[in-house]
Amino acid sequence: MLQTMIVGSLPRPTWLAPPHQMYVTPKLEGEVLTEAQDDAVLLALADQQEAGVDIVTDGEQRRRHYIWGFCEGIEGIDFSRLVKIATRGGRYGNQQVDAARVTGPVRRPRPILLEALRFLKRHTTKPVKVTLPGPMTTTDTLADEHYGSRRALAAELAKLLNEEASELAENGCDIIQFDEPCFNIYLDEVEEWGIRTLEEAAKGVRAKTAVHICYGYGTPVVLQWKTKNTDWSHYWRTLPLLRTSTINQISVECAASGVDPAVLALAKGKDLMVGVVDVGTEEVETPETVAARIRTALQHVSPDHLYPCTDCGMVPRSRAAARGKMKALADGAWIVRTEILQQYRRSTVVGFRPAEQEKAKP
Ligand code: ZN
Repeated sequence: MLQTMIVGSLPRPTWLAPPHQMYVTPKLEGEVLTEAQDDAVLLALADQQEAGVDIVTDGEQRRRHYIWGFCEGIEGIDFSRLVKIATRGGRYGNQQVDAARVTGPVRRPRPILLEALRFLKRHTTKPVKVTLPGPMTTTDTLADEHYGSRRALAAELAKLLNEEASELAENGCDIIQFDEPCFNIYLDEVEEWGIRTLEEAAKGVRAKTAVHICYGYGTPVVLQWKTKNTDWSHYWRTLPLLRTSTINQISVECAASGVDPAVLALAKGKDLMVGVVDVGTEEVETPETVAARIRTALQHVSPDHLYPCTDCGMVPRSRAAARGKMKALADGAWIVRTEILQQYRRSTVVGFRPAEQEKAKP
């Protein structure tokens, strides 16, 4: 009940990559880089375990970017010459970002994140989660010069994601999470083909499957949009669609956004990872603030289906803030868990009424 986890990423140590950046070039190369990444994963794991987080990730310490970490293992995607493209429907201004080019049929010649999973599992006994980019969001982040259709490229990527996810599940991954922030942007496409393509990526995967849908990382351009935005209706369309999907768990942003938590009831029956920690601030929430957000969510989700979580990845934050926020997350969940158990004990003691039972004896 109320098992905690983070969405996925954690800030990297500054000796590995420059801080506060989404796309990074590591400072090291070759075997030294591999050793440094192993060390960074151990630190990310230690931070989660020390904070008391229940389900852990590798903090995405090995990735240059959360989507590139998968795409760099795919044939048909060329990273040697990046081009600038507009992404996310221009929501965050006309910002152009570096994109790899799809230059031919996409193919997954070998496992991509399997060794990273094995390393993580060797160093923890806790349940583990691996994040993969969802097919729609991956498509939105690539410059397609081959397929000529977003839907067609997403369908091909879904097949490769399914191969990868199936293999991770067979090797003991407990939760496979597909990151689909674009599900809050292209609502018509989500309905037309997005959910179905996501289900193809998760088809037959023998682990819990999850989808993370948020309003973006806590970066300046995203925060600027959030402060001005007044329309938070997106989950009201996507959650009913996901409720009847094959996906087991849905991760939603509730702490920093203006989303009405009542929308959570539309996904009744699914596990909900509810964002109770704002990833756009350096200020660390108190456990009481987190507990209050969990209590609000519990008005719409039963405790066995509620997973208190961060709103999104914490890679833009400082390591101190990320550590503090994880501790607040775990401590806040502990407060509410204790309250629920105390209520349960009180209700079972009242329900038992031993004195009356004694009297009723013949
Ligand atoms: Zn996110």
